[in-house]
Amino acid sequence: MAAAVTAALVCLGTAGCGAFGGDGDEDGKPRAKDGDHSAASSPASPSARGGKKPADEPLRGKVIVVDPGHNPHNRDQPGKISRSVDIGTGKKECDTTGTATNSGYAEADFTLDLAHRVRTQLRERGATVRFTHDGDEPYGPCVDERAEKGNQAQADAAISLHADGAHAGSRGFHVILPASVHEGAADTRDIVTPSRRFGTDLRDAFHAATGEQPANYLGDGNGLDTRGDLGGLNLSKVPKVFLECGNMRDPRDVAHLTSAKWREKAARGVTDGITAFLAAGKGKP
Ligand SMILES: [Zn+2]
Repeated sequence: MAAAVTAALVCLGTAGCGAFGGDGDEDGKPRAKDGDHSAASSPASPSARGGKKPADEPLRGKVIVVDPGHNPHNRDQPGKISRSVDIGTGKKECDTTGTATNSGYAEADFTLDLAHRVRTQLRERGATVRFTHDGDEPYGPCVDERAEKGNQAQADAAISLHADGAHAGSRGFHVILPASVHEGAADTRDIVTPSRRFGTDLRDAFHAATGEQPANYLGDGNGLDTRGDLGGLNLSKVPKVFLECGNMRDPRDVAHLTSAKWREKAARGVTDGITAFLAAGKGKP
């Protein structure tokens, strides 16, 4: 459909979403609110929690910020999302449209759907989950705001969900880790190490849950990519990674990304990765 085609073109023109290097699109930062911090300060009795035992809720007391990459409405606001924001190392666009499959399934719709599934599963394990947005804003938020939302929440972990837009034949998922950056408003020195542990746990759990292989088109094939050009990571003060779930331009990956059943598996992988990271007490630096 025309809108989708336009969105894809905008994305390609902005160096984001895809292609090698990942999702240039940026994004990510957290924020939002939802929740119930009460659990952190006053553990409820098993009866008050519906009979759940602590072992059933390994994430009780933890705050997770989930950033659904892009926003389905970004395509309607090209002027607003193209304005520059400061990411410490320079300027970057507020946000991008994200990529899309050739048949028009938008990355922004994919990330929102996956985020909802992740939220449901995280809450079942006792976590407080906050979104950076829920597709209910006219555009954005901008990448610096997405990072700030995780910071404001003092999240134990923040994750930005994406799908890539590389060439057909480029397949698989990867996790983007923050590089050590100390410039302007960006200072990731304290989050580099915990973010790497988080990303490694996430990679392992995502692979186990989905059976997907690490991306065959970047890095050394270990599913981890380190970048210093994403505002969503540069400006984060809490452990944070991006997850590129697959390539929306590769037919085999698309068959998975467009499957609700697969997305449920993907959500379990994300949830398991977060649980592995935080349950081991590896969270805040
Ligand atoms: Zn993206």
